[in-house]
Amino acid sequence: MPLVAAAFYLWLNSQPLALSPQPGLADNGRLKVSFLDVGQGDAILIKTPAGQKVLIDGGENQEKLLADLADELGWFDKRLDYVILTHPHADHVKGLNGLFGRWQIGQAVGTLLEHTSSAYDFWLNNLKSKQIKIVRWRSPQTLELDNGISLQVLSPTESFLKQGTYNLNNSSLVLLLTYGRTKWLLAGDAETEVEQDLLARGVDINAQVLKVAHHGSSGATSQEFLAAVGPQVAVISVGKNNDFGHPHERTLNRLERAGVQILRTDQAGTISFLSDGQTLELIK
Ligand SMILES: [Zn+2]
Repeated sequence: MPLVAAAFYLWLNSQPLALSPQPGLADNGRLKVSFLDVGQGDAILIKTPAGQKVLIDGGENQEKLLADLADELGWFDKRLDYVILTHPHADHVKGLNGLFGRWQIGQAVGTLLEHTSSAYDFWLNNLKSKQIKIVRWRSPQTLELDNGISLQVLSPTESFLKQGTYNLNNSSLVLLLTYGRTKWLLAGDAETEVEQDLLARGVDINAQVLKVAHHGSSGATSQEFLAAVGPQVAVISVGKNNDFGHPHERTLNRLERAGVQILRTDQAGTISFLSDGQTLELIK
């Protein structure tokens, strides 16, 4: 998006944050959040100012994930402090299976839900054989990172899971990343039922950046949900010409009507944001 258009957009919305594409900025001392271009699926890399690294999901293409991690972190970096799997579908877990042998994983994170599939079993078995601790998150709980950066689990609650849904998408860890005034809502593949649960519980989901749920499918990102999040930018992590028709036109229309800038990994490649806790910068 041209700089002028971005500035105009912010003036319209009276938002305090500077959001402008500025290529080539160094991330020195800032939080970097990258939505990796892994084709169909999600993979989000968080690097804190003190150098902690958190990977959320891994897409389904192991080569793409490994290449993206090398691009972001360099060939000599070999450690990820946390690897979080939002839910066990192949387009989130399969890529992670390429980490073994190349990357050391400090701690693995999953959900409470049990599930069996070849890709997920491979993930769990390898974690076990390499004696990597796996913790299972539910809401409410928060991972505290350095510089006051937090990753808060907004969904699912245990009671929501106990409602007996077999919709794995709705078991997705929905996470709010906060650094000072800057926030990212990472919605996994959660669908409308989760959005309604969050709204009914009155959870604060306001964020400048929304990682659109379920690759922009029509069964998520309701108008009410969007109004509560109030994002400036929506990131859709999606593969070119995917078999699912993602993102759905209805979702794109809802985002456009809400005046949200849409960024897609199938069009833009990896999409990164830098934050010093006060200002948020989009780099491309
Ligand atoms: Zn997915």
